[in-house]
Amino acid sequence: MARIFCIANQKGGVGKTTTTVNLAAGLSQIGKRVLVVDLDPQGNATMGSGVDKRALDLTVYDVLLENASIAEARQVQTKAGYDVLGANRELAGAEVELVELERRNGRLKGALQAVRDDYDFVLIDCPPSLSLLTLNGLCSAHGVVVPMQCEYFALEGLSDLVNTIKQVHANLNPELEIIGLLRVMFDPRITLQQQVSEQLKAHFGEKVFNTVIPRNVRLAEAPSYGLPGVVFDPASKGAIAFVEFAKEMSQRLGAPVRVAA
Ligand code: ADP
Ligand code: MG
Repeated sequence: MARIFCIANQKGGVGKTTTTVNLAAGLSQIGKRVLVVDLDPQGNATMGSGVDKRALDLTVYDVLLENASIAEARQVQTKAGYDVLGANRELAGAEVELVELERRNGRLKGALQAVRDDYDFVLIDCPPSLSLLTLNGLCSAHGVVVPMQCEYFALEGLSDLVNTIKQVHANLNPELEIIGLLRVMFDPRITLQQQVSEQLKAHFGEKVFNTVIPRNVRLAEAPSYGLPGVVFDPASKGAIAFVEFAKEMSQRLGAPVRVAA
């Protein structure tokens, strides 16, 4: 039975997609069956997993509009080592089209039910907004992983996300919780980053993952080769950190997961 996680933060460029594809690759390296769902019309997680978003006949858009099942729309066994439900620009239209439809928040959740036994983990790469697409992600998930840079405004931005998660928890998905905050693009030489990192730990305690993802150029180069850094350059510091993170995630989830009715 798959455990389903959103990688979310309403800020852009904070490392959501990098976290999604590298955590997916790390989990698949430790023997887990993984599906990545790209919920961002930019399709970066799709491309970054070696799937050409322009060549896709079916995407998560078709799944949200119930024109296709995930089994029909997914790309299996990509060279990144996991399956991908891709996205492209078409998905931007779903935002508008969904508003008119019933069960508009729960479309993805419904579709994932059918493949939940095919995977150990489903990782949903969310767009940089608290939109209807993100809401579909949050309604489907057991938990949220929040990648963040240790910068001055990081904590401020976090409160909007935390409030949204609380509201979804209260009204739409009682299972949803923050699994943890992941410090990414970390540079220990920068005093401010260390300070913000300490603040995060003081404020969120156990919810801050032990693993820290360093700023590492190989992670940034990998997408242009259509691979997660973990696959592109396994010996790089960034790749090693993400494999470590995959282990921490699995361990943290060691307790049995509650099953949605
Ligand atoms: P988001 O999905 O939140 O918009 P991305 O994962 O696309 O963010 O990351 C934004 C940019 O930062 C990308 O160019 C990515 O390659 C780069 N990047 C992400 N994480 C790292 C890292 N740990 N070290 C160096 N560059 C990174
Ligand atoms: Mg992204």
